[in-house]
Amino acid sequence: MIIAVDGPTASGKGTIAKAIAAHFQLPYLDTGLLYRAVGKQVWLNDGDPDNAKDALVATQFPDSLFDNPDLRNEETGGLASRVSIHPEVRSALYERQREFAMQEGGAVLDGRDIGTIIVPEADVKLFITASVEERARRRWLEMQDRELEITLVAIEQDIVARDARDINRKDAPLRAAEDALVMDTTSFDKDQAIEAAIEAVQSQLDR
Ligand code: C5P
Repeated sequence: MIIAVDGPTASGKGTIAKAIAAHFQLPYLDTGLLYRAVGKQVWLNDGDPDNAKDALVATQFPDSLFDNPDLRNEETGGLASRVSIHPEVRSALYERQREFAMQEGGAVLDGRDIGTIIVPEADVKLFITASVEERARRRWLEMQDRELEITLVAIEQDIVARDARDINRKDAPLRAAEDALVMDTTSFDKDQAIEAAIEAVQSQLDR
């Protein structure tokens, strides 16, 4: 059973995908981390994230980079969104994601193009969204917990910029697959979103 969970930045797709994986006892891959690792590696190489060649070289990052706590910060998210524009980077990361998805027993993957490009044949596709304001609010609360100093306005601007890059890029733009179930979580809290997503997956499987 392969489950694809796509959606924009801070939509809650990661939380939902993780909960689905735990519920259905499937391995889980956060594909955003791969792009974040490339973004961070470009920075470590003193490269330019907007340069396709520099970004491609950075796809050879060591797996130890996944342990770097910087990978999850806003700065690296911004770098990831810039390197992810390059088709060369996307194809270099394709096989790794595809192999994970095709492992025996199935898997849950979250990202931007899982249901459209990486595993168009996925058994279940969810597309998780929420309003920009709500996504910014959630991200801000998360930052407060981690005692990171950033304003709500700055987060909102960053989310709008990242959405624009993800939606408007030529290669694998962010969009819901035609057969994806679109879930707007704006008015849901975390538990409600998880419950609704698990129910949605179960009802797709029961069909
Ligand atoms: O999901 P996350 O915020 O960690 O992703 C960071 C960036 O990586 C996104 O803004 C997006 O540009 C890129 N990404 C992508 N395709 C994916 C996952 C992430 O282009 N499957």
